[in-house]
Amino acid sequence: MKIETQCLHEGYTPKNGEPRVMPIVQSTTYVYDSTDEVAAVFDDPTKSLIYSRFENPTTDCVEKKIAALEGGAAAMCTSSGQAASLLSILNICEAGDSFIASASIYGGTINLFGTTLKRMGIECIFVDHDCSEEELNAAFKENTKAVFGETLANPALTVLDIELWAKVAHAHGVPLIIDNTFATPILCKPIEWGADIVIHSTSKYMDGHAVQVGGVIVDSGKFDWTNGKFPCMTEPDESYHGIVYTEKYAFAPYIVKARMQLMRDFGCYPAANSSFLLNLGLETLAVRMKQYCENALAVAKYIKSTGKAEFVTYPALEGSAGHELAKKYLPNGTSGVISFSVKGGRSTAVKFMDSLKLASNEVHVADIRTCVLHPASATHRQLTDEQLVAAGIDGGLIRLSVGLENVEDIIADLEQAFKNI
Ligand SMILES: *Cc1c(COP(=O)(O)O)cnc(C)c1O
Repeated sequence: MKIETQCLHEGYTPKNGEPRVMPIVQSTTYVYDSTDEVAAVFDDPTKSLIYSRFENPTTDCVEKKIAALEGGAAAMCTSSGQAASLLSILNICEAGDSFIASASIYGGTINLFGTTLKRMGIECIFVDHDCSEEELNAAFKENTKAVFGETLANPALTVLDIELWAKVAHAHGVPLIIDNTFATPILCKPIEWGADIVIHSTSKYMDGHAVQVGGVIVDSGKFDWTNGKFPCMTEPDESYHGIVYTEKYAFAPYIVKARMQLMRDFGCYPAANSSFLLNLGLETLAVRMKQYCENALAVAKYIKSTGKAEFVTYPALEGSAGHELAKKYLPNGTSGVISFSVKGGRSTAVKFMDSLKLASNEVHVADIRTCVLHPASATHRQLTDEQLVAAGIDGGLIRLSVGLENVEDIIADLEQAFKNI
């Protein structure tokens, strides 16, 4: 199946007389005929269902769909994107380990990796997203267990050289984990470029309608965990009657371990109802991504043509930062998100944003409706002007998330706001 068809048909195939639409299975638990049958499910939990803290039939359909879209072997949904980032690291790193991450990633992930995981004894080594192969190699330590980056970074919109990062990670015997939230598998499939694990905040384009927070982790099933660096995969799990994940679940040992061990213990699993809503978003993901890209490219060209922006960052746009890498990794477009800096700095940017009538001012991105955020006033509010410059965010910077309204209406709104400054 092509990806548009997969969005509609993967994960759920009703049999004779069954509901056309994937049902919401609103049950915490599942019934068996005998104690022996329950025991058998505990022996091999992948065969049947135990408890909705870590598995549910509705969520299972969504997991199968997303695994198919990304070209992975298996997936596990989480209750937020943050939970997906957290579990993706905890699944293979423990106190005393380190991992490498691009410094150009989502701010919430930077806090999680740089502060909270540090308190748990796991060190994150940050490197520039465009560092050279030598610099990336030099960042590795004896205890480094993973490498992490974003396809299209939120909010910097930098494009990661996934193929290069995968090559370097593999040379050191560790997996590459890619956060593919902004690109979605419609615009880029990181596994095809060598990534081993793909994660998402499904709260963004996958859901698309701003109705529920969620996340997902996809296992390519391709990484070789038996190179001696990952005893947690290759030695018996005493908390699960001695299962060896790479032996018993060779098709996707990483995701089976994440579910049976971490999800069992942490329970950050989505409710069936949320998964049902996420599935509605996924069904139209391919058509929506095409339209976001078309609208955003027209808007980026318009903003550039006004001459009122210091710069416009939209990697699909000729002359934008990241354009060369975008041609390789995101040939069909770079989502609906644009960042640009209004000439005149902070006060002009604020005036511009407050003049918008159609675009709403909100702390969200990748919504179906056009929205804007002023990082210096919101997500980066605590920083001084000097710190903002160091973080690559000037006072005039605006993050514009172009939605699916008619693009002429979006541009007319921007036009009247530009006239007002
Ligand atoms: C929003 C976001 C997250 C965090 O996801 P939540 O669903 O808000 O927890 C992680 N990564 C990226 C790239 C994001 O945009």
